[in-house]
Amino acid sequence: MSTPQATVVLNALEARGGAGCARFVGGCVRNALLNRKIDDIDIATQLTPDEVTEALQAAGVKAVPTGVEHGTITAVADGMPFEVTTLRRDVSTDGRRAVVAFTTDWAEDAQRRDFTLNAVYADREGTLFDPTGRGVADGLAGRIVFVGDPMTRIREDYLRILRFFRFQAWYGKGEADAKALDACKALRDTLSGRPAERTAKELLKLLAADEPRPAMALMASTGVLAKVVPFCPGLEALNGLVEIETSQLFENDPVLRLAALIPDDQISAAQAAERLRLSNEVRDRLVAAMGKTPRITSWMSPRESRRAVYEIGARAFTDRVKLAWARSQRTAATHQWRGLLALGESWTPPALPLSGEDVINAGVPRGPMVGEVMREVEAWWIDHDFIDDKLSVIEKLKAVAQGMVY
Ligand code: ATP
Ligand code: MG
Repeated sequence: MSTPQATVVLNALEARGGAGCARFVGGCVRNALLNRKIDDIDIATQLTPDEVTEALQAAGVKAVPTGVEHGTITAVADGMPFEVTTLRRDVSTDGRRAVVAFTTDWAEDAQRRDFTLNAVYADREGTLFDPTGRGVADGLAGRIVFVGDPMTRIREDYLRILRFFRFQAWYGKGEADAKALDACKALRDTLSGRPAERTAKELLKLLAADEPRPAMALMASTGVLAKVVPFCPGLEALNGLVEIETSQLFENDPVLRLAALIPDDQISAAQAAERLRLSNEVRDRLVAAMGKTPRITSWMSPRESRRAVYEIGARAFTDRVKLAWARSQRTAATHQWRGLLALGESWTPPALPLSGEDVINAGVPRGPMVGEVMREVEAWWIDHDFIDDKLSVIEKLKAVAQGMVY
């Protein structure tokens, strides 16, 4: 917020609207207050979107109309983006899309924001403005409290249910706000049939938190989780995975944590991915992380592990190892599990040292037979732990070719 780029944007806006017409708001102010990392910078302003665009262009700052219908222009100063949103109040809403009216009143703008800790503004000197009167205190105390009546605010936008649990996971301390929990529980059905992309985005953000377990437990006990992830078998696997990630200093892995919320079979994973409208990449990873064959155990041998890596790929293998570890008792076998992960990360499966040409040279006629012979030699080669000896492989090929009935 004190970068030269931010100064350029604020100067541009103030040149048009006068000193104090623009303030930082939302996540950047909250995180600055809490000494947390800041990902993106939101600016609220009294200028209208047209005025914002003109002011930025006059100062040579790129203005991208990223959300004009709700008053947002993205200013790009020297490669750094700032979301500049006109102060507004929500006139009406059908639970997902708000009809907005612009205003110059900071307190009105605060009223339409979701939680008090997200409704704190800061000017360029770092002076805080807290129209709800409690945003700063709530943020510091880790209280996630709706601005206004939780039931009303959730009826305006069902997504706030998930945002509540997300912020609870990231910033919540102590007991969660009881009124908010009751409202989430009472209105959980409003999540059904809603655009799943937004829900999934919030869920994955929640799951990226260092400690998502208490918030997830609340999501389960209020019945919200079942609305978002149907057929979730429980939180044991997730809790185990977070415990492992924490104790082994692994990176938080939100997608794998999501996998831990889904029954361990590929059909369930594909269904969950479809329902949450996950990207193809995430879906493929989820599906590959599931399944009971090859069987993953802490006591599998290096040889069996190599076979598994060859069959399902290194990524799916390490994912399945972590999930199997998470589902296990976890009191022992840490060394074994870590050994499997190390193998998955370091061992690259070799290619079968045999070409179609080799097979034909061994006397096998062109056609489907070639593939069949290759598969048989490959099975033998895998059984011999990917033997790195072309001569033995050719010997085997000859034996197989001779035994074939054409
Ligand atoms: P982060 O960027 O770290 O995820 P954030 O608080 O900036 O957190 P955003 O989703 O970027 O979250 O939203 C920016 C701000 O806009 C919020 O702090 C909040 O004031 C407001 N806001 C966002 N979504 C909603 C919503 N669904 N209902 C009400 N206010 C919202
Ligand atoms: Mg943000």
